Amino acid sequence: MTKTGQTRDVYQQVAERLAGAERVCALTGAGISRESGVPTFREADGLWNRFRPEELANVDAFLSNPDRVWEWYSWRRKLIGNVRPNPGHSALAELERLLPHFALVTQNVDNLHRQAGTRDVIELHGNILRNKCQKCGIVFEPGTPEAEMDFEPGTLPVCTCGKEGLLRPDVVWFGEMLPERALARAWDEAQSCDVFLSVGTSAVVFPAAGLPYQAKSAGAVLVEINPNRTELTPVADHVISEPSGEALPEVIDRLRALKTTT
Ligand code: NAD
Repeated sequence: MTKTGQTRDVYQQVAERLAGAERVCALTGAGISRESGVPTFREADGLWNRFRPEELANVDAFLSNPDRVWEWYSWRRKLIGNVRPNPGHSALAELERLLPHFALVTQNVDNLHRQAGTRDVIELHGNILRNKCQKCGIVFEPGTPEAEMDFEPGTLPVCTCGKEGLLRPDVVWFGEMLPERALARAWDEAQSCDVFLSVGTSAVVFPAAGLPYQAKSAGAVLVEINPNRTELTPVADHVISEPSGEALPEVIDRLRALKTTT
């Protein structure tokens, strides 16, 4: 039995599903980064209970009060800059190495999957470490001087495009479109996978929340890893009700054992 009293059999069942799969897709949400110290959005101690999203995460808020929006993102950037990937992130990076085809789709903007070693991360909601010009749309990758530009009280970062565009974090705000290519890839992976893992997401933010349902209706086995119930729980084929930083390494251990015995 695990801490929450869940039988260990579910780990074996999930590992067996993974061992027999040709294509696996995982969708992660804020919950996978919680054990690293990044707050989620919708839980009791989540960010949305302390801040008003309508004042922070949309274009109108940025255009009318860029200092306030930048202040919040600057705080989140610093917070994220001080955390490390946890064993859940590392286990997913390991899955990419162990399986013939593994696609990792994330709603997170914290870059922790890349830091943990996953090579191909499909980022649906952007990446907080990148900057983007609000006017010309050019994106600056981490490591470039423009991506390093951050908010200092009284000085807003401005793009070098010459159009006086304000730089902003390259994250998807409420009312904005998701990056087209990332969404198309995520959709294809969900439709064509044999096993779909939904990890640490409340599964309420669409279109990302539609991916597990899409996978299931296309015939995939749906696995949920989340210590709390979500709207997805009743439709999942296997549910591991444990924190992902504990559950995923256990699944990987079982998978490795299966691979060495076959
Ligand atoms: P959410 O806040 O709505 O839900 C978080 C989920 O994680 C909950 O269902 C919760 O039960 C679960 N959870 C909590 N601790 C967990 C753990 N240790 N292991 C596994 N699961 C755990 O977050 P969401 O579904 O990702 O959707 C909200 C949006 O929040 C996304 O658009 C995302 O961009 C944004 N967001 C990102 C970050 C980040 O980048 N780390 C942080 C906060 C919010």
